Amino acid sequence: MSDNSSMSVDAIATAIRAGERLTPETARTMYLDAPTPLLGRLADDVRRRKHPGGVVTYIIDRNVNYTNVCVARCKFCAFYRPVGSAEGYTLGFDEIYEKIDETIRLGGGQLLLQGGHNPDVPLAWYEDLFRGVKQRYPDFRLHALSPPEVIHISRLAQLPIRAVIDRLIAAGLDSIPGGGAEILVDRVRRILNCYNKATADEWLGVMREAHAAGLRTTATMMYGTVETPEERLEHLFRLRELQDDTGGFTAFITWSYQPSHTELGGTEATGVDYLRTLAIARLVLDNFDNLQSSWVTQGGKVGQLSLAYGANDMGSVMIEENVVRAAGAEYCMDEFEVVRNIENAGFVAKRRNMHYDVLGGPIFRERDVPRMLELAVARATGAAGEGADLQNYEARSAAGRKVREAR
Ligand code: SF4
Repeated sequence: MSDNSSMSVDAIATAIRAGERLTPETARTMYLDAPTPLLGRLADDVRRRKHPGGVVTYIIDRNVNYTNVCVARCKFCAFYRPVGSAEGYTLGFDEIYEKIDETIRLGGGQLLLQGGHNPDVPLAWYEDLFRGVKQRYPDFRLHALSPPEVIHISRLAQLPIRAVIDRLIAAGLDSIPGGGAEILVDRVRRILNCYNKATADEWLGVMREAHAAGLRTTATMMYGTVETPEERLEHLFRLRELQDDTGGFTAFITWSYQPSHTELGGTEATGVDYLRTLAIARLVLDNFDNLQSSWVTQGGKVGQLSLAYGANDMGSVMIEENVVRAAGAEYCMDEFEVVRNIENAGFVAKRRNMHYDVLGGPIFRERDVPRMLELAVARATGAAGEGADLQNYEARSAAGRKVREAR
C-alpha cells in the first residue's frame, strides 16, 4: 500500500480488499477515522478468507497461576503480592497435579501456567515440576512462562535466555504464552513500571529465541492504560515484523486493562474500543492466522460479537482464573456456554489444541462432563503460604529464607 497518510478511508478500504498491507499511516487513518461497522466488515472479510469453513475454535485448558509473589510491581496489576506478604502463595506440585486431574476430567489437555516473579522459585523448581507433569501425564501440554518470567528466571539462574529455554524444553515445556507484552513501547512500559521486567526489545527477543528453538508462542496486547492509539499500532507493527521473520506466533489476543484494585486506577475501555482494536489488529496482523476473543474481560456478549470483528477463536474455557478476577472482572463460561455462543452466532464449534489442530466437536456431546458455573481459584480456600516442595530449593530473599528455616 502506498505510504500516503492523506489516503481516504474509502481508498484504504479498497486497498485492503485488494490484499494490500497496511502501513503505520494507513492503519492510523483506519483506526482513528473508519466507521466501526466498516472496520468490522473488513476484519470479518479477512477472517473469512483465512477460515473459510465457518469454524470457530476454542480450547479447554486451565489457567494456573503458580505464585502471586512478585518483585516486578507493575502498576496495572491487582494480582501480585510483595515478597514476605502474608497473602503470598506458591502452589505445591501435588496441588498442581490435582488441578491437572480435574482439567482432564473436564476434557482439557493443557495448563496455561504463569505466575509472579518470585525470587524464591529457582529454575530447578520449574524443571522438576515440568518433569513431574510429563512423567504422570505424558500427553498433557505445558503452555508456560511468559517472556518476562523467562527473563526473570534467566536473571536468577545467571544463564542466557536461550539456555533457559533449552533447559525448560528438555524438562517438558511445549509452548510459551504471550503474556507480559502489555504495550511494546518503552515510554509506556516505563510509566507502567514494567520496563525493568522486560523492555519491548527484550520481550520480542525471548519470542525470537523461543521460535528459533522450535517453540510456537502466542502474542498479546493489553491496551487502555496510558498509551496513545499510535502506540497500540506500533505494538501491532512490531509483532507483524517478528512474525514476518519467524512465523512462530500461532495467535494474537488483545484485552482491555482492568483497573479495579490496581495502583494505576482509571477506567476500563469500552466495548466499542475493544471491537475496533480487535478489528484493526486483524487488519494489521495479516500474517497471523488466529485471533482470539477475550470473553474473560469483555463478557460473553461482546465476546460473541468479536466473532464479527475478526476473531476466529473463543480462546480458552479456562476452568480457573486469578489475575483478571483480582482486578474486578468475573466472567465465567464453561464449554457448554462457549459452544452456545459460537453456534448462536452461526458458526461451527470445534475443540482445538495450542497449535490450532482441531481435536473434535464439543466434549460434552461425547460424554458426560460436569457443568462449571464458576471459575476455580488458585487455592480453593484462598490460603497463603508455600507448597512443601519449595523447602528443597534455596530461597533468594531474606523473607523466603526465614520461612524455609522455620520449617
Ligand atoms: S503483571 Fe505479572 S510481573 Fe507484573 S506485578 Fe503482576 S504478576 Fe508481577
